[in-house]
Amino acid sequence: MAGIALGLPTFGAAPGGPATTACSPAPGLPAGMPHTADRPDAPGLIDRYGRTATDLRISLTDRCNLRCTYCMPAEGLDWLPGTEVLDDAELLRLITIGVEHLGITELRFTGGEPLLRKGVESIIAGAAALSPRPQMSMTTNGLGLTRRAEGLAAAGLDRLNVSLDTMTPDTFTRLTRRPRHADVINGLAAAAAAGLTPVKVNAVLMRGVNDHEAVDLLTFCLEHGYELRFIEQMPLDAQHGWARSEMITAEEILEHLGARYRLSPHTAPRGGAPAELFDVDGGPATVGVIGSVTRPFCGDCDRTRLTADGQIRSCLFATTETDLRVLLRTGVPDEEIAQAWRGAMWEKLPGHGINDPAFLQPDRPMSSIGG
Ligand code: SAM
Ligand code: SF4
Repeated sequence: MAGIALGLPTFGAAPGGPATTACSPAPGLPAGMPHTADRPDAPGLIDRYGRTATDLRISLTDRCNLRCTYCMPAEGLDWLPGTEVLDDAELLRLITIGVEHLGITELRFTGGEPLLRKGVESIIAGAAALSPRPQMSMTTNGLGLTRRAEGLAAAGLDRLNVSLDTMTPDTFTRLTRRPRHADVINGLAAAAAAGLTPVKVNAVLMRGVNDHEAVDLLTFCLEHGYELRFIEQMPLDAQHGWARSEMITAEEILEHLGARYRLSPHTAPRGGAPAELFDVDGGPATVGVIGSVTRPFCGDCDRTRLTADGQIRSCLFATTETDLRVLLRTGVPDEEIAQAWRGAMWEKLPGHGINDPAFLQPDRPMSSIGG
């Protein structure tokens, strides 16, 4: 895996268990062995804290055509070697195991930039043919959507989240290091025209860069019928540039919006959704704030993550991974792969630990995990 690119220690497959990468083994267990002796015999992706993962986030590639400053350095990263990336058949097999054996009901394709993966439409079409058919969405930077949106919808994609942090072309170029603001604006319109609705917009605010634009972003989204979500910046950038003191908090975001709009808590149950929703000026329009750092929602998390190189992560901030690629490539039957996946999720920690003094940022950056 990314053991090469990311410098994580890699432990070989233990008999009857998956290969995992880990910073330290569970107490009393050999390195790399998930501690599943106390797991009840249940088909779904349950964990020790009463949660069940039904939402699978799939990173289709770690590559990207933008260079957002909060995500990766200007020169990009050491991309995963092609041989380590799951091919379409391998990926569809894991998706099928997830849906048919493990109770996955929702898929979100992400990356890196998922639209850079060749054949993404055929992966979506393959997943759409599964029974029960999963709900499918994608998080994208929007480049190329004007050409691709209709094909994505025809393949079976249900919804799109498009990332847009600014209404100012110059600020977009500064933030993403590429002059592509107009492509994203046009991509959003193409997504709506193709029926990939509700179109959601993800925005990260950076102090001194675009933090004065919260109201402008919301006004734009309200005018176009897009659902805006602000995401607190998280310590997941490859260059380790995150600083708590610099981060724009959920509270600050709400203060900015409150200067122009009247926000009231949305009454529908939040479930496992990361965004805390607010009605805007009495509704029905809403705005969301994903306060991952200052308002963590780990207790209701229903997500499991698959990286482009076939590693299961139970959390964005996990420091261990379970290697399903090695199982796929050594001819292991579906049910054994499913059992390895169950073991990985049983080990999910109760929280991400960002606010613990001993917090360590994971070696794998957001663009390689799949946000
Ligand atoms: N490239 C696609 C995109 O940008 O939409 C998909 C992958 S990107 C990693 C997914 C989401 O993560 C984007 O909305 C992006 O803004 C967000 N993101 C990236 N780095 C982040 C960070 N350090 N903190 C919070 N959100 C981040
Ligand atoms: Fe690329 Fe998305 Fe990261 Fe921006 S946030 S650099 S678009 S992966």
